[in-house]
Amino acid sequence: NLSEKLDKALHVLKGHGQITEINVAETTKEVRRALLDADVNFKIAKEFTNKVRDKALGQNVLTTLQPGQLMVKIVKDELTELMGGDAAGIDLSGNPSVILMSGLQGSGKTTFSGKLAHYLKTKKNKYPLLVACDVYRPAAIDQLHVVGDQIGVPVYSDKENSDPVSLAKAGIAHAKAQGQNVVIIDTAGRLAVDERMMTEISQIRDAVQPQETLFVVDAMTGQDAVNTAKAFNDVLNFDGVILTKLDGDTRGGAAISIRSVVNKPIKFIGTGEKMDALDVFHPDRMADRILGMGDVISLVERAQEQFDEEEARKIQKKIAKNTFGFDDFLKQIQQIKKMGSMKDLMGMIPGAGKALKGLDIDDDAFKHVEAIIHSMTPDERSNPSILDASRKKRIAKGSGRSVQDVNQLLKQFNQMGKMMKMMQGGGGKKMMQMMGG
Ligand code: GDP
Ligand code: MG
Repeated sequence: NLSEKLDKALHVLKGHGQITEINVAETTKEVRRALLDADVNFKIAKEFTNKVRDKALGQNVLTTLQPGQLMVKIVKDELTELMGGDAAGIDLSGNPSVILMSGLQGSGKTTFSGKLAHYLKTKKNKYPLLVACDVYRPAAIDQLHVVGDQIGVPVYSDKENSDPVSLAKAGIAHAKAQGQNVVIIDTAGRLAVDERMMTEISQIRDAVQPQETLFVVDAMTGQDAVNTAKAFNDVLNFDGVILTKLDGDTRGGAAISIRSVVNKPIKFIGTGEKMDALDVFHPDRMADRILGMGDVISLVERAQEQFDEEEARKIQKKIAKNTFGFDDFLKQIQQIKKMGSMKDLMGMIPGAGKALKGLDIDDDAFKHVEAIIHSMTPDERSNPSILDASRKKRIAKGSGRSVQDVNQLLKQFNQMGKMMKMMQGGGGKKMMQMMGG
């Protein structure tokens, strides 16, 4: 993939003490090849590498202390520029603001509609309404209702009405009557670009005049994603792109290609199936990600949003006083789960993508732990030392796990307690020693 190729291209330079003009030329050639392989338009790839080369030579890369790093920075800055510079917002000025989804079947329109509604409701204090305009599959309407229920956002649908244009209009009227200020219209897609779909989505667009027409595309589909984007843009002249399925190891070469072909901003990326697996698209972070640095900033931000500081302080106090019990442990697990699925989280850690490839991280692992803790009495939870053989047996039975599982959890719990104490007591050094540092 693109990130691996760029990594290779820049490998020569990363951390290198000395580079020559030939080195720069060779590296830029490699970078260009990597971009072309990722379906970036030839002209754009050439312009890109010329700029990188000129900048590198202009900034005297050859004489700085860490030329490799400077070179990587130049590539990163240019990549950021190529993907649109700053993050592009969405227009919420309408009353209600109407947002229309377009894209092929399976690209993630319905999922993204839900994620966007959830985002606008929880982060932007909006009152969204989801409108079901996929009239061809009754299951699609049910799917949107499931999504709406999950996030507590109302859904407008009418299985008697098979005209998407009048449905969309009725949805907007409904929102006005109910005081909802954002209307998200989920539409039907087809497996391939065809005239009927294009006519239908254009008709909806012309009838409702949305503030935002968004094109949703599966980032894993490579060159197809670029072609589809072009076909939709030629007809719709859409306002922004949503790249879905950018989880784990998918590094986002599509972000560059699509941006450079349709010249429209990418606004959001989908990074998982859950309703909170949505990130505002930041070109600079995507550039990091493509260059293999991982999207650490997004990860940290998400963690900060989700972790309740008050809760964290309470837990610290408890550890200090030796009263940290299984109820607290349970709370911590719940905090972690709020951050998204383990797989989504791990994918954002640099290098983890490769390491985790093929490895199925089990989000159910937590479920077992929770089941065991739920089978303990309050006394046992706050005082795990009273857990003797017969209690363990009872807990195992109650949670449907084995006594070994209970023992293992106890062991993990004790280890964690020790570790947390060490970290708290200024034991950073000890901790490093323990980890072999
Ligand atoms: P639609 O036909 O365009 O409405 O697509 P859906 O929203 O029904 O999504 C198709 C499939 O892709 C579903 O199984 C979704 O769970 C999945 N999906 C959507 N967005 C993402 C994403 O960001 N990451 C992953 N891993 N799966 C996604
Ligand atoms: Mg759908």
